[in-house]
Amino acid sequence: MSSPDAVAAEVARKLFAGPCDFIWGATSIDNLPPATLPEVAFVGRSNAGKSSLLNALTGRKTLARVSNTPGRTRQINFFNLGGKLVLADLPGYGYARASKSLADEWQNLIFAYLRGRANLSRVILLVDARRGAMDTDKQAMGLLDQAAVSYVLALTKIDQLSAADRVNAEDEITKESRTHTAAYPEIFATSALKSLGLDALKAHIAALAAT
Ligand code: GDP
Repeated sequence: MSSPDAVAAEVARKLFAGPCDFIWGATSIDNLPPATLPEVAFVGRSNAGKSSLLNALTGRKTLARVSNTPGRTRQINFFNLGGKLVLADLPGYGYARASKSLADEWQNLIFAYLRGRANLSRVILLVDARRGAMDTDKQAMGLLDQAAVSYVLALTKIDQLSAADRVNAEDEITKESRTHTAAYPEIFATSALKSLGLDALKAHIAALAAT
């Protein structure tokens, strides 16, 4: 007989290998799609690797647009994953390189979304492993704590680090995570480029899907 973990991994694999369709792009809090399925939202600094990770998770090259112009996406994009879950791709924050605080526009849209979205099951907050949690990431975590939305931190681009640096990055982000009331204790370490850590994240997300 298969172990419960193996069964969960297979369920996750199937879910992410199945259809994933764009539903809707929302530019304001007044035109969100109906909240009928559990929702998992992806947030992170512009250039954190969010589009690449979404594409890698769903096995699609162009689900989310990998952009060389950070900060251009100013809408929340919703995707239906196999009729069981909605993935929400939130605009990246910290557009300007020097930006030390979240732009008002981002805060207003996102905070309204986070606070008001009853079907939001989890937020995946992506942190570039080479940089670790920056000021704007910590502010975003603060917003999530305030909104009392359950979130989990995921490092991206871990292929860029040596084994030793990776251990350090994971330790640092775990420590950061523990200082936040709404952060999930587990962290994920991923690389879209090298397909690392994707199965664990898929399993975490699939566990939230409608049955
Ligand atoms: P977004 O702005 O958060 O959506 O980030 P993108 O997905 O557009 O990625 C930003 C940059 O990081 C692009 O140049 C990607 O090719 C690069 N990138 C994304 N994921 C990875 C990864 O896992 N490993 C490496 N080495 N580079 C990555």
